Amino acid sequence: MDLNLQEKVFIVSGGSKGIGEAITRAIAAEGGIPVIATRSAGVTEALVDEIKRNGGEAFYVIGDLQKTENCKNAVEETIARYGRLDGIVNNAGANDGASLEKGPEAFRASIGLNLFHYFDLVHYALPHLKKSRGAIVNISSKVALTGQGQTSGYAAAKGAQLALTREWAAALLPWSVRVNAILPAEVMTPLYRKWLNSNFGDPAAKEAEITAKIPLEKRMTTAAEIAAMAVFLLSDRSAHTTGQFMVVDGGYVHLDRSLT
Ligand code: NAP
Repeated sequence: MDLNLQEKVFIVSGGSKGIGEAITRAIAAEGGIPVIATRSAGVTEALVDEIKRNGGEAFYVIGDLQKTENCKNAVEETIARYGRLDGIVNNAGANDGASLEKGPEAFRASIGLNLFHYFDLVHYALPHLKKSRGAIVNISSKVALTGQGQTSGYAAAKGAQLALTREWAAALLPWSVRVNAILPAEVMTPLYRKWLNSNFGDPAAKEAEITAKIPLEKRMTTAAEIAAMAVFLLSDRSAHTTGQFMVVDGGYVHLDRSLT
């Protein structure tokens, strides 16, 4: 299936590692132009170079998206370079364990890390998305539906991303700008590896315990499997899909795990 993404321009926040990297690669593989908005320069530059060496086009804008001006800058630099914007993938974030015990400051910081830039990027992109009848994909998490314990800030931010998905889908109907969310559960990424290594004495045993509970094939979802859903949602092949929560997780959240 041709997704018709050729020459279309998409900003991917946190687009050079983990799930974001896979989305960047999938956009490029479809002939689209990913613009990576992230804060680590070296790995990002290397990925953009690789895409270009393989005949694609890509661009990056470096800056911590917790600062509103960096969100604005990411959109402005994209427009200055390509003159168009066809979609935003809000993906940057981290499960930072801001628990009830850690207190108000950690909670507020976690919301800053995980939520405000989702709004800010879309706010600054809005005129361009209206013009292109673009698409927005919010990467949320299963934690928004299930909770996890010890991570109030992340859970609140991920839940708010789902609320914003519905709110923006409704708000942007007049311009046919579609807004959808993807909820991954367990995907091995640099962030996930760090979480395993820093929270468990035997990370390999914990990983085995987690994967044993994933109904479909007892394995983690790959970042490429999340990316496949993302590019579909960015494309006009999903032209009548908006305000939806796509739970790409091997049945982890919704199947009866006691039966498998
Ligand atoms: P990752 O491997 O850490 O990649 C996230 C990327 O986002 C990194 O490149 C990171 O940059 C960047 N980033 C984070 N905060 C940023 C900020 N304030 N400004 C600019 N860039 C920032 O994480 P991942 O596991 O792929 O997670 C991606 C998304 O999927 C997150 O929203 C996460 O909540 C969600 N998710 C993941 C899983 C999973 O199992 N992995 C499950 C559910 C949901 P640095 O390298 O500089 O930190």
